[in-house]
Amino acid sequence: MKYIGAHVSAAGGVFNAPANARAIGANAFALFTKNQRQWRAHPLSDADIESFRKETGRLGFSSNHILPHDSYLINLGHPETDGIKKSRESFLDEMQRCEQLGLTLLNFHPGAHLGKITEEDCLKRIAESVNIALARTTGVTAVVETTAGQGTNLGWRFEHLASIIEQVDDKTRIGVCIDTCHIHAAGYDIRTPKAYAQTMTEFEAVVGMNYLKGLHLNDAKTEFGSRVDRHAPIGKGTIGLDAFRSIMNDDRLNGRPMILETPEPVNWDKEISMLYALANVRI
Ligand SMILES: [Zn+2]
Ligand SMILES: [Zn+2]
Repeated sequence: MKYIGAHVSAAGGVFNAPANARAIGANAFALFTKNQRQWRAHPLSDADIESFRKETGRLGFSSNHILPHDSYLINLGHPETDGIKKSRESFLDEMQRCEQLGLTLLNFHPGAHLGKITEEDCLKRIAESVNIALARTTGVTAVVETTAGQGTNLGWRFEHLASIIEQVDDKTRIGVCIDTCHIHAAGYDIRTPKAYAQTMTEFEAVVGMNYLKGLHLNDAKTEFGSRVDRHAPIGKGTIGLDAFRSIMNDDRLNGRPMILETPEPVNWDKEISMLYALANVRI
């Protein structure tokens, strides 16, 4: 079974997210558990936590299908002492918020070397950051996202993800999220059934399907291999519907949250219906 949702608003409190997801016909969702553009946030209150748990239960969302996203400010591969310290503290706080909410996954962007250290050193720092957070929490898996490779961001090659996983001590709590727009921008072709099959074979060989914990479903505004990250509505970008038809008919992806981060939230319900309709089309 496919679990499809979107990155919904948690405005007014995290407990509003499940109902926002249900309103668009989603059986999965993503959210920020704090303001994603600020370092500091108020701790979650007991009432917030209880309401969130009650709402997810009432609306039938399982924690396997909820993929919270961490703050955009965090750089777990930061080359400098202050930057890495701040990022690691903030990431630990994000992991602890997930723990409190009964969430089992936390999606994060790997990090950027900022031109100051080698790729290898940066990947090592990222893995060390994950190790620190995992050692101080229980029950939450750190889910590293494939990136478009803008600027000095790592994670745009499957090998980068494999290297991070390799250096993480607890392999049971490290996972990967494939973002369709990002891999397309990074030069992994999924536009035709044949190209999709080849890319997934490569992912399986380099990373391993057992590490795949979720997907972000986005079409792209930018060209294949552009290394520029701009999301487009499903079927209206440079990736095209065939890729999403391949995804919807790939049984290996069953059971994972598939999250829309497309730019027209008003159409999310239609995009979800359209994706389910693609699952019934033979390829
Ligand atoms: Zn994404
Ligand atoms: Zn993106």
